[in-house]
Amino acid sequence: MTRGRMTLDIRTAWLRTLAQLMLVLAVGLGIGLLIDRPWHALTVAALGVVAWQYWKLHGVLMRLTARQRPRPSAGGGAWNELDRLLLRGQSDMRARKRRLLTMLRAYRAAAAALPDAVVVIERNRQRVLWFNEAATPLLGLQHPQHIEASVVGVLQPLPMASWLAAGRNAEPMMDVPSPADPARRLSLRLIPYSDELWLLVARDVTKLMRLEQMRRDFVANVSHELRTPLTVIHGYLEMLDPQEQPEWAPMLAEMQRQSQRMTQLVEDLLTLSRLEARDTLPQEHVAMAPMLATLRREAEALSHGLHRISVHDSANIDLHGSTQELHSAFSNLVSNAVRYTPSGGEIAIDFAMEAGGGAVLSVRDSGYGIPEAHLPRITERFYRVSTSRSRESGGTGLGLAIAKHVLGLHGARLDVASQVGHGSTFSCHFGPERVYPRDPSDYPDTTP
Ligand code: ADP
Repeated sequence: MTRGRMTLDIRTAWLRTLAQLMLVLAVGLGIGLLIDRPWHALTVAALGVVAWQYWKLHGVLMRLTARQRPRPSAGGGAWNELDRLLLRGQSDMRARKRRLLTMLRAYRAAAAALPDAVVVIERNRQRVLWFNEAATPLLGLQHPQHIEASVVGVLQPLPMASWLAAGRNAEPMMDVPSPADPARRLSLRLIPYSDELWLLVARDVTKLMRLEQMRRDFVANVSHELRTPLTVIHGYLEMLDPQEQPEWAPMLAEMQRQSQRMTQLVEDLLTLSRLEARDTLPQEHVAMAPMLATLRREAEALSHGLHRISVHDSANIDLHGSTQELHSAFSNLVSNAVRYTPSGGEIAIDFAMEAGGGAVLSVRDSGYGIPEAHLPRITERFYRVSTSRSRESGGTGLGLAIAKHVLGLHGARLDVASQVGHGSTFSCHFGPERVYPRDPSDYPDTTP
């Protein structure tokens, strides 16, 4: 029914009720005049009207609270109209409630049927409020005994307490064993969707992890298998004397260069595979003064005196981690700085303390620089700004991937700042937990 039509009905009903009132009072007054008691008759008529109105009100109230709502009686009075309006309001509300319930059921059914485990957690008490069907095989949650159970207790082997404590900043757990079946691998995400309620989503990544492992094994095996034939070829090429066949000299030199490149590529792939297979690294004392001295020597050897190389060590501390892997990371940065800086350029290696107690090792060059659009992808394997420049300079495209991986294993961060035509700065930021007090007696005669 339209709003205008409704207003018209109400107005008609109201006018009709007023007319009825007038009629009753007029009839009362007429009878009163006939019997010569107008005021008495008018009072009786008015009381009659009031009693009738109360009776109608009672009827409306009774119908409102009745379990089975009877249809409003067909009449044109204001009370009947009110009754009809109330009934319409009530049935509209019921229909809306039914629609909402159907929607809620549909959402629940969708969440219950998701292949990922979904658990609703009450944040303050860290209790399980609801979970879907997939939470049983993936997380071992049982209905109904685990409703209201402590999340930390039911997902026992997982480090839930510290993870939940991190709250909104909790990093997803990318690969953890399932508490229900350790052979299954899960990736866990915490989604705080309101102040009190959090959603824990667990996805089965067993197949994905197996494929990832196969990929890693494949690369590692191929690299390993290539190593021996390459060493043999490289060895024989070294033995060939270009003086004996001078016309072959350019070919021999090119073959040697390419076999050297292939060997380096295989070595880098093996280094990456080795790093990927590790979760932790040896925790040694990494003496930084000899490390910086080695980096300087390597830079000078690569540069052949064509660059100005400087080393500054203002930190006066050492690091904590793997000397071999850190050397490989830093050395890749230094080698890049030399290779991507034209002759006469400048290369500065700096080791300094940072605000907050950490340390930073930065390698700055005045070379070609890297366009900003390439910066986000620069540490990907085989990603190069210029393939020809990388190849000409003997690059494998894996140096920065190795550096990033090593730093990641040390909880450190690699930052790159660069300006085309002005140079680049690669900085490795280490947290205070990686800082190791330097003891001068460890290396008395090394000056960087
Ligand atoms: P590559 O063996 O090709 O040098 P890297 O992983 O070490 O591989 O570096 C990836 C790419 O990043 C390089 O190909 C080069 O384009 C760019 N790059 C790295 N370091 C520098 C630098 N210091 N100056 C300019 N470009 C750089």
